[in-house]
Amino acid sequence: MSDAANPFESLQEQIDDAAEYLSVRSDLLERLKHPERILETNLTVEMDDGSLAVFKAFRSQFNGDRGPYKGGIRYHPGVTRDEVKALSGWMVYKTAVVDIPYGGGKGGIAIDPREHSDGEMERITRAFAKELRPFIGPDRDIPAPDVNTGQREMNWIKDTYEKLENTTAPGVITGKAPDSGGSEGRVEATGRSVMLTARETFDYLGKKVENATVAVQGYGNAGSVAAKLIESDLGGKVIAVSDSSGAVYNPDGLDAQAVKDFKDETGSVTGYEGASEEFTNEELLALDVDLLVPAALENAIDAEIARDVRADVIVEAANGPVTPDADEILTERDVEVLPDILANAGGVTVSYFEWVQNRQRFYWTEERVNEELERLITEAFDALVEAYEGKGTPNFRTAAYVVAIERVVKAHEQGGTWP
Ligand code: GLU
Repeated sequence: MSDAANPFESLQEQIDDAAEYLSVRSDLLERLKHPERILETNLTVEMDDGSLAVFKAFRSQFNGDRGPYKGGIRYHPGVTRDEVKALSGWMVYKTAVVDIPYGGGKGGIAIDPREHSDGEMERITRAFAKELRPFIGPDRDIPAPDVNTGQREMNWIKDTYEKLENTTAPGVITGKAPDSGGSEGRVEATGRSVMLTARETFDYLGKKVENATVAVQGYGNAGSVAAKLIESDLGGKVIAVSDSSGAVYNPDGLDAQAVKDFKDETGSVTGYEGASEEFTNEELLALDVDLLVPAALENAIDAEIARDVRADVIVEAANGPVTPDADEILTERDVEVLPDILANAGGVTVSYFEWVQNRQRFYWTEERVNEELERLITEAFDALVEAYEGKGTPNFRTAAYVVAIERVVKAHEQGGTWP
């Protein structure tokens, strides 16, 4: 994996690429390339041994023209100010692509959660929640899970916020456990939209998804659920999956759920007994498969790797896994890339459903959640196809930005620029 591309510069390049197909004032477009504000804080927390540790943490509120800022919080040693800025911008365009009434935000703590006890993680999370409190709220900014965070962290943040505010406010955060106001179907939602995007894309291209070969890079929540649903709902054949320990491969197909169970037990996919071969992440990305799903972090596919990609279709489960340089090469090589801001938008879409349920204090069945999700993702896919064919954009990413920027600009212009 290359760390050469700065994700914030990648985001700005993606917006510039779309600008060629839009009639948006350049001064307004410039505004849409920078966050509105960023909280940067140094969390000071007592460790189990009595010592104090300091952790850098951020929350970027990129754009709120279409509604409250919305986006996850990640815990990772690689978290930087520029990464959080980029991720918050991608959320703006993601919520616009699926047309849900939100802006975009993102947060993160520079930390390796594997180095800390549960008690330390709770104190660190609550310290961050205390810093976030004046900035967030069900109508202001609504965080959610992202890399290395999940229901446990969301429940702590909700609890801290509610105690400090002396109220109940489940809609302040999404991705909670169902007993704490979470939605059915939220955990699977990101993987489900990856599956739906793959289904729509193969259908659009006139390719058969049944028995199509699939490789998945990254086996966290997004990657493992996508693999499982591509297998169970589309009949795809997942032949390789990887995590930071390496890749496992079986040309006859792996059992996606069994690999996930193995990883939950042992901590990694390598060593899984149903594999016939093991190799590196780079080798997985160069496999001759019908569908490649990058589901780890940014910059997984850079220009160098893009030249070796042999997949026909890439569906992005991660945020920002393909660099702009790589995009150019993949477009030239006729590899269809279905962008993150559509493909992984299932997570934030079901977050929206969770927030709606929290506000109404009325909860939906999983069936209803999945039906509404399918409707929004297929409608968004159709909007992309319309821009792709109608405006002749070079690829689906640029089509997605064209659709999204037009929606954000409309809301901005209706509100006007003030002060
Ligand atoms: N972290 C997820 C994303 O990148 C979900 C955000 C949310 O649910 O607000 O889209």
